[in-house]
Amino acid sequence: MQRQLMVTNIQRMCFHDGPGIRTTVFTKGCSIHCPWCSNPENISFRPEYYEKDGIRGIYGKEYPISELVGILLKDQDFWDVDGGVTFSGGEALMQAEALQGVLEELKKLQIHTAVETALFIPVGKLKLVLPHIDYFIVDIKILDQKICHKVLGGNVEDYKANVEMLYNSGRLKQFRIPCCPEYTFTEENKKLLLAFLKQYPDIPVQVFSIHTMGKKKYETLNRTMWESRGVEERILAEYCQSLKKEGINAEFIHI
Ligand code: SF4
Repeated sequence: MQRQLMVTNIQRMCFHDGPGIRTTVFTKGCSIHCPWCSNPENISFRPEYYEKDGIRGIYGKEYPISELVGILLKDQDFWDVDGGVTFSGGEALMQAEALQGVLEELKKLQIHTAVETALFIPVGKLKLVLPHIDYFIVDIKILDQKICHKVLGGNVEDYKANVEMLYNSGRLKQFRIPCCPEYTFTEENKKLLLAFLKQYPDIPVQVFSIHTMGKKKYETLNRTMWESRGVEERILAEYCQSLKKEGINAEFIHI
């Protein structure tokens, strides 16, 4: 069993990663590759050297379960009654075996647990962690099977089956749509998004524009970020209104 979790960052005082005030753990390694990704250091599963302002470092550190839990517990006073720990990435669920160990320890202490996931993961990994996660935030990206496979390297049918399982568990609490004019926010994909969201009308949806804030991180890895103009706030606000007219609880957020 994998006993160490590969982490790139532990961020305190997070307000957008689930209920209340949270500590967010960013794990290394992702199962897909979004062109607009702003966390390039979290895509490869292996540690990577970076250079910033002439200083070299490594993205990725393996934490034994007990050490990571000990670090997280130092933040307990900040979480108050409704906060807790969120695992993000990368794709945290790809490290389901080690994550299960961390989650079990947190749940023994009745700490609220959340995950932000793109959900392009083998169903066996999802089953392993599902009982220990209170709150799932799930991305919706490209829903056309061929385009999704070509652009992201993901399988839409597997993704949809995972969403269905989560929904039936009662732990799917939030959808998020990263809006990218070239891929997720095309007219064709918006039609697919609407049909998909209508299957889950009680799950709130947050929409946001992709951005280029990760550009500097690409530079530290000696890579160039693919750049998109993103989607204007006014257009996203209109999009939320159109979803609301269809009975979907949508809101526009900044990430
Ligand atoms: S799912 Fe997230 S971490 Fe993975 S490639 Fe896409 S944007 Fe990056």
